[in-house]
Amino acid sequence: LAVARRPRAAAAAATAWLAGTAEFAWTRVASGPRTRAEVTTMALTSAVIPPLATWHWLRGTVQHLGVRPWKGLPDLVLFDRDGTLVHDFPYNGDPDWVRPVPGAKEALDRLRARGVQVGVVSNQSGVARGIITRAQVDACMERLAELLGPFDTLQICPHGPDDGCDCRKPAPGMVKAACAELGVDPARCVVIGDIGADVDAAAAAGAVGMLVPTPVTRKAEIDAADWALTTVTEAVDVVLDGSW
Ligand SMILES: [Mg+2]
Ligand SMILES: [Zn+2]
Repeated sequence: LAVARRPRAAAAAATAWLAGTAEFAWTRVASGPRTRAEVTTMALTSAVIPPLATWHWLRGTVQHLGVRPWKGLPDLVLFDRDGTLVHDFPYNGDPDWVRPVPGAKEALDRLRARGVQVGVVSNQSGVARGIITRAQVDACMERLAELLGPFDTLQICPHGPDDGCDCRKPAPGMVKAACAELGVDPARCVVIGDIGADVDAAAAAGAVGMLVPTPVTRKAEIDAADWALTTVTEAVDVVLDGSW
């Protein structure tokens, strides 16, 4: 309040403050021994406590401005396979070459331990290109589960970029299918991948995309991503702390 321009309002506020403080002090004096020292202590501390409490509240409020709201845990986290959960050997059809990246197993186990479902959404255009067979893709997925534990859903697109399917990322088909299979609202689903097509598929499905770039990821894709983390471990940290 501008005391100079609003003297009446200032006086009213001062009176209200005095009355409030007096009431607060009386409440605290009433329950204790009514010695002079006790009453003095109560009167002084009663004047000091409210501004301190207000300051504490105000500081907390200001500190948390701009902090992302806590969203709890998602219901489902979908992972790209090649370049995200395992090292990318293009068009790999050999289970022996399914090699998890460091921390992948632990990241998945932390999600499973918290009751978050996990799945894989994987473009496998090597099938459409005639480089690998669908059976080889399935054998590699089996090996993936052996190494990294069970997945609640596995989505594979065997088509090529010119087939016009609605499952090949960045199309949202596989993310939507995974959510539908598990009865999950896409808004409660996170998709973690290493290229723009992964996070674009997430966005198109109404899910949250997180990028964990590798050396092949384009800079423009990193700049465009809402979330860009260094490792799968860090991405899962963000998921589990509820700030996704
Ligand atoms: Mg990938
Ligand atoms: Zn497809």
